[in-house]
Amino acid sequence: MTSHEIRKAFLDFFSSREHLVVPSAPLVAKNDPTLMFYNSGMAQFKDYFLGNATPPSKRITDTQKCLRVNGKHNDLEEVGFDTYHHTMFEMLGNWSFGDYFKEQSLNWSWELLTEVYKLPKDRIYVSVFEGNEADGVPFDQEAFDIWKKILGSDERIIYGDKKDNFWEMGDVGPCGPCSEIHIDLREQSEVDKIPGKELVNADHPQVVEIWNNVFMQFERKADGSLIALENKCIDTGMGFERLCMAIQGKQSNYDTDLFQNTIQVLEEMSGLKYGVNGTLNSDSYSDVAMRVVADHIRAVAFAISDGQLPSNTGAGYVIRRILRRAIRYGYSYLNFKEPFMCQLVPVLAKQFEDVFPELKSQEEFVKKVIEEEEKSFLKTLEQGLKRLETIFEGDNTKKVIDGKTVFELSDTFGFPVDLTALIAKEKGFDIDEAGFKTELEKQKARSRKDATKEAADWITVNELDNPQYVGYDNEEAISGLVQYRKVKTKKGSEYQIILEKTPFYAEMGGQVGDTGELTLKTPKGSFTVAISDCQLEAGLHVHIAKKAPFDDYSLEDLKAAEVTAKIDSDRHSNIKKNHTATHLMLSALKQVLGDHIVQRGSYQNDELTRFDFSHFSKVTDEELKQVEDIVNQKIRENITLDERRNVPIDEAMKLGATATFGEKYGDFVRVIIFDPKYSLELCGGSHVSSTGQIGLFKFTTEGSVSAGVRRVEAITGIKALEKMREQETALNALKELLKGSTDVVTSVKTLLDEKSALQKKVEGLENEKLQGVKATLLQKVETIDGIQVIAAKVSVPNADGLKQLAYDLKAKMENSYIALGAEINGKPLLAVIIDEALMKAKDLHAGKIVKEAAKEMRGGGGGQPHFATAGGSDVGGLDKAIAKAKSFIQ
Ligand code: ATP
Ligand code: MG
Repeated sequence: MTSHEIRKAFLDFFSSREHLVVPSAPLVAKNDPTLMFYNSGMAQFKDYFLGNATPPSKRITDTQKCLRVNGKHNDLEEVGFDTYHHTMFEMLGNWSFGDYFKEQSLNWSWELLTEVYKLPKDRIYVSVFEGNEADGVPFDQEAFDIWKKILGSDERIIYGDKKDNFWEMGDVGPCGPCSEIHIDLREQSEVDKIPGKELVNADHPQVVEIWNNVFMQFERKADGSLIALENKCIDTGMGFERLCMAIQGKQSNYDTDLFQNTIQVLEEMSGLKYGVNGTLNSDSYSDVAMRVVADHIRAVAFAISDGQLPSNTGAGYVIRRILRRAIRYGYSYLNFKEPFMCQLVPVLAKQFEDVFPELKSQEEFVKKVIEEEEKSFLKTLEQGLKRLETIFEGDNTKKVIDGKTVFELSDTFGFPVDLTALIAKEKGFDIDEAGFKTELEKQKARSRKDATKEAADWITVNELDNPQYVGYDNEEAISGLVQYRKVKTKKGSEYQIILEKTPFYAEMGGQVGDTGELTLKTPKGSFTVAISDCQLEAGLHVHIAKKAPFDDYSLEDLKAAEVTAKIDSDRHSNIKKNHTATHLMLSALKQVLGDHIVQRGSYQNDELTRFDFSHFSKVTDEELKQVEDIVNQKIRENITLDERRNVPIDEAMKLGATATFGEKYGDFVRVIIFDPKYSLELCGGSHVSSTGQIGLFKFTTEGSVSAGVRRVEAITGIKALEKMREQETALNALKELLKGSTDVVTSVKTLLDEKSALQKKVEGLENEKLQGVKATLLQKVETIDGIQVIAAKVSVPNADGLKQLAYDLKAKMENSYIALGAEINGKPLLAVIIDEALMKAKDLHAGKIVKEAAKEMRGGGGGQPHFATAGGSDVGGLDKAIAKAKSFIQ
């Protein structure tokens, strides 16, 4: 079976058992503050497990792009060295949300593996949770009994501890025991020597875990305790690449058709062969390098096509580090000195065309971004090598590169530590690894400190029925208080509050959260809480307040409280204008620049709209003007908003909506239309009811954010008017300075012309004067022992003038020794120039001479043997310094 057929067979199997097939969520977890990247199939369904949202079906199946390079799941160090861990991999999964449980799920797993995929039954091992007294979770008898029935005996059942057989999404949240399925892929002769059972969970590359069945039956609270979930769920995850290895009878994931295309291209490009030493536990570095590159290009290309550009912070930095790791392997072991990763993008784009079309449709863009990244790292790679050179050449008797430098190399030049160690070894140097680790720990501690947010458990005041956002229609709402908690942050503490009904927009899709206030009327009295932000977490609108006197009120009082929630209306109105303006601008940009314009990021607050989009050259002033004209035309047309809620996604697409890559859409979407022929977008944001309210639209900046991505900022309404007033005020002030000139541009131009004419004149005069000085000095040449000597104080405008004069004099003289002093801006300056032949004959050194002479004027300096200058702080000593310089020839 090809990998395509294997994937399809999985989805077909569960689809024919009433599972809804859904698309993979994008790699980048945008709306989940606890995750950077999706690291498992279940992560996108978190809200369903928590009961905050209702799944579209009780049975779901899909293949999810996962990335395990940071946080709780990090496999980066293994990748390339072993043959079955990837950074990015596909996880095939099937889910039951309160529907079937252990019995059904395990039986299906077995049926699929042995009947459909025909994997040998006697090579499969399974594990069950052994129980944990401290946690109060018993041995998983149920799973044990089911497996025993399926397998006919308990011979191939293994007992797993908490580390291997208890699955937790994070520090808090849904969790439960699990049952792993392992497969032994070794040759029969090996199996005869050591039974597979002994190698399960022992990091053997041919005895690997392929599938995990998680039985979600508990929720972990912040205090560490477990409570039973009402609706038990099934969550399974199977590593697709490992499955392909097993079915295709390979010994390594990299030998499957999923990686072979890329590896073949790498072989052609490098002229090296993959797997000549055997891929099994091979320590051949070119093999490791090819695996690393073939793996990392997938992570990087898919992350970029899902909207995550490499950058210096957060998720973007994770992508940049993966890319650099691959570049370094290519550079060191495959001899790639020019960008090479970008050339692999087309191979992947083609291969995944049918499964993840987002890469194919953005192929050129992804290539370009990677190429620019490669170019820039190949530059620092060289700089880092030079930095190392200076250490090898300097005094370093111990032959050790200290931890600080190793850290600096990794931190500043993006140099992985192993690369530093390798180059060091070639020169007979060691690196101070312990010192490096200390530095790294220091940095980690710093960033941990930055990131700590300690949340207490939610205090539930009223049971949450169905949270409602009413902000599309109302700026005020009467609600009940659902829950709140106190969160300790770096800057102090804050309260997070959840209401039953809210008009507060939670930051999403680029639009900032609303601010405003909550007034609580309780039996004990009323109080008001200022809301400084509103964020989305697990599908809920979390209102953030710096202060809230909840502790002064009893739970009974809070339970009875009537909450009036009211947003800051003026601010919200400005945000709406900027958001609608963004839509109008996107359509205008497409009209003016072309259909290749794709949104790469956007941000709207009450001040401005910021918009990033793919485009390969600078947007000219003329083009910006055209866009402004179109947008303002649409504003004047005063187009009425046509807002449609709960439109089935297929219908929205038929209307002509385009989905943004990297965004995840539900089955029902909201469509925002301003003239169906002009602007039609899928959007959850806030908009004006007619475009005329925007008033005015004006760009303020245009620039580049990264390769192939431009950023524009624009202002609207009152802000645009204020900006124009500001400019008018500045212009009026200018006119005043120009004595009431009406044509400011001509006046300033005249002034500049006059200035440059005067400058030329001054230069001419100075030059004439210099010629005079030169002539006078040449008349005063003294001859000492056949050497022509000038030692004099002169008047020149600047240091360059002094240097020029010295060289001019030397050109007119023979066997010359010249010492000139000048006062420049109140400071003494000394220059010495010596004829080359004389310099050699008498072993003179101008640099040493000025250094010595400058002591007379409290200064120092140096330079080449034939010419040098020195400065000082005591003008009074200048004559003595000149005399001193002269004394060297006497
Ligand atoms: P392992 O112990 O092998 O790292 P795991 O226990 O971390 O696996 P799970 O979190 O249970 O794995 O993920 C479910 C399945 O996903 C695994 O059974 C495995 O087949 C696959 N998988 C996990 N991590 C990776 C990875 N880094 N690369 C490829 N496949 C993986
Ligand atoms: Mg793992």
